[in-house]
Amino acid sequence: MNDPRPTVGMVGAGQLARMCWQAGIGLDIDLRVLAARANDAAARVTPDPVIGDPDDPNALAAFARCCDVLTLDHELVDTATLLDLEAAGHAVRPGGETLRFAQDKAFQRRHFAAAGLPVPEHAVVTTRGDAEAFARDHGWSVVLKRPRGGYDGRGVWQVDDRDGLGRAWEQAAASAGDVLVEQGVGLVAEVAVLLARRPGGQQVAAPLVETVQRDGMLRELVVPARVPADVHPEAMDLAARVADLVAVVGVCAVELFWDGSGLLVNEIAVRPHNCGHWTIDGAATSQFENHLRAVLVWPLGAMHATHPAVCSVNVVGHDDSSWPQAHLAAALGTSDVHVHLYGKQPRTGRTLGHVTATADTIDAARERAHAAAERLMAPGTTPDPAT
Ligand code: ADP
Repeated sequence: MNDPRPTVGMVGAGQLARMCWQAGIGLDIDLRVLAARANDAAARVTPDPVIGDPDDPNALAAFARCCDVLTLDHELVDTATLLDLEAAGHAVRPGGETLRFAQDKAFQRRHFAAAGLPVPEHAVVTTRGDAEAFARDHGWSVVLKRPRGGYDGRGVWQVDDRDGLGRAWEQAAASAGDVLVEQGVGLVAEVAVLLARRPGGQQVAAPLVETVQRDGMLRELVVPARVPADVHPEAMDLAARVADLVAVVGVCAVELFWDGSGLLVNEIAVRPHNCGHWTIDGAATSQFENHLRAVLVWPLGAMHATHPAVCSVNVVGHDDSSWPQAHLAAALGTSDVHVHLYGKQPRTGRTLGHVTATADTIDAARERAHAAAERLMAPGTTPDPAT
């Protein structure tokens, strides 16, 4: 008899693949990763990782042949190669057309605006003079963005005046090509909708999450998001429209700006996302399980919160030698927290894990999650005394 267990192939082997693998165990899904390096977070835990270059079309094609469906841990995959694989009959979810939106912020802005979705005022420019003209027309501050390849705020410069624009322009335009310039939004909160979508359009969304950034990097999640009640359904509606527009299959994160009076779409990710990490311990079905269910065209699980309040805090490296693992016993002493470490080598500014706390109130969840995360981020490599 044929083995009925599906093989899901994930391109990339970071923490997202690692947590997908974990979610797939209960469903006996065979998850294989295409890892750039043998010590990548998921390559260290999944059986038979394939070590290969995701930029090599031959490596990708060979990997696709040993999987029932191909999916992504990151978005740095050539869309033309994915489209070729789809044309050759491979199931690629999300597909190349969808990925194009996530890879290029200028393409995304243009198509979202054309579809009538609210986005920040923006222009795609090739000269500093045009960026200055945009600022004159729209007022300071403005934000310069490299359309492709940025993450964690790298490739984004918020500038308040002409001098600042000059300095940012040098960096933004350094790698040549277009620069996206947009109006600086007076942010009251950043929020996100994390949803899973199946081929054909069925969607399940998690409650609105507030995403707290520091230095352009996501540091904390709060559920439910602390914005007025009527903002929640409006955000859900916008996200559902975005997901249909890009025809995503799998998990999609729709990041939104709230300026106190309205919502604007910032950007999307078409894979499991940091803003959904709280769902592992705080939702009926985690983003990772629903991603697998969606790409396998299985029924999706509900994603409502299982507690009145949930908070996740990222564990971020502050030097190259302090391992959060050394402080696990101390962190686990905080009640009602769940620790997730990604098995990555510590480095300043690198996300090494996250901690989730569930509670009856947001204040209590935040207090516990921060306390545990602080303990994990304590300096030093030796275990804390007295734990
Ligand atoms: P990345 O892809 O690196 O996450 P984003 O485009 O999401 O970059 O921008 C990173 C952060 O910069 C956002 O989370 C937000 O805090 C800030 N930001 C980006 N665009 C704007 C804008 N138009 N107005 C105000 N803040 C912005």
